[in-house]
Amino acid sequence: MNILVVGAGFAGAVIARELAEDGHKVCVIDQRDHIAGNAYDYTNEHGIRVHKYGPHIFHTSNEQVYEWVTKFGAFGWYYHKVKAQLADGQYVTLPVNKETKLIVGEDNIIDTFYRPYTKKMWGMELEELSDSVTKRIPVRDDDNELYFPDAKYQMMPIKGYTDLFENILNHDNITVHVSTPFHKEMEMQYDHVFNSMAIDVYHDYCYGELPYRSLKFHHTHLPLNKVLPVGTVNFTHDGPNTRITEWKNYPYHGHNNSMTTLTTEEPCDYKDNNYQRFYPVKDINGDNQRIYKKYKDIHKYNTTFIGRCGMYVYIDMHQAINSSLAVVARYRESIK
Ligand code: UDP
Repeated sequence: MNILVVGAGFAGAVIARELAEDGHKVCVIDQRDHIAGNAYDYTNEHGIRVHKYGPHIFHTSNEQVYEWVTKFGAFGWYYHKVKAQLADGQYVTLPVNKETKLIVGEDNIIDTFYRPYTKKMWGMELEELSDSVTKRIPVRDDDNELYFPDAKYQMMPIKGYTDLFENILNHDNITVHVSTPFHKEMEMQYDHVFNSMAIDVYHDYCYGELPYRSLKFHHTHLPLNKVLPVGTVNFTHDGPNTRITEWKNYPYHGHNNSMTTLTTEEPCDYKDNNYQRFYPVKDINGDNQRIYKKYKDIHKYNTTFIGRCGMYVYIDMHQAINSSLAVVARYRESIK
């Protein structure tokens, strides 16, 4: 078969690789000038590795996902820890654990850690957002200090995500074209299209717009060794930024003793950031899901929508891999 994959992030790259190994000819296009989607990383002028679209920490308990991804690059263990900074400057462990609870007081947890952060992150009140979003960060009763306490595998690709994607896409049956936007006329040249573009854009917004949040990244370079106690610090204030990452605090991200690079994240509506869609918005009433469902139900011959924007779903890297492996399994059945 001749296959087109739109988007060279995890969702698309997994499908491309699997189908290439089956013997299909796969063309991968991406409108950006690089592969790896939002996991793209690069080494800056100070020898420090930066994730262009914010911190990506690989974590999963799914054996199949672990086996799949580790075929394409060496990973090293990394147990991600996050601190939240209180109004007085003190750092406390996040997700809230026994110690954090003692410091802040049980009754203050929501108003300290969740309400202001959620307001700036999503541009809506805590009560307007589906609680499945904040449940990603559950409060704990023990002394565990990990951000992903339950993940069996927590790791970083030693050579970075971009290198990992180069390996995934390096196959005789795969061709990759970056800086190449999708056009519907391309479809007729292929037997099947796996499309990770925003499904509402594809359908010309016929049922209305699906909202997204985006992030603006602000990079600072300081002539210091290290500034933060951990890789990422979340802010509890009601200023514009949600969190700050000091890249050198992640393993394999550089060894410059005299310079450190930090990146703060400022959430905004995607329209205020060149229509860069990062987070589908899961409102408590399910309004956005109802719009998405209408798009999903449009029968589209020979196209499968994939990834965060194609399926309008807030998934992490491991879930995108898992989802795409399932898409491939269904596709294989369909062409038997
Ligand atoms: N959250 C919060 N305070 C925090 C961290 C997270 O209220 O300090 C909530 C917020 O609504 C956020 C969600 O939990 O959007 C998920 O956080 P996570 O760190 O998983 O977000 P991601 O890394 O995907 O941006």
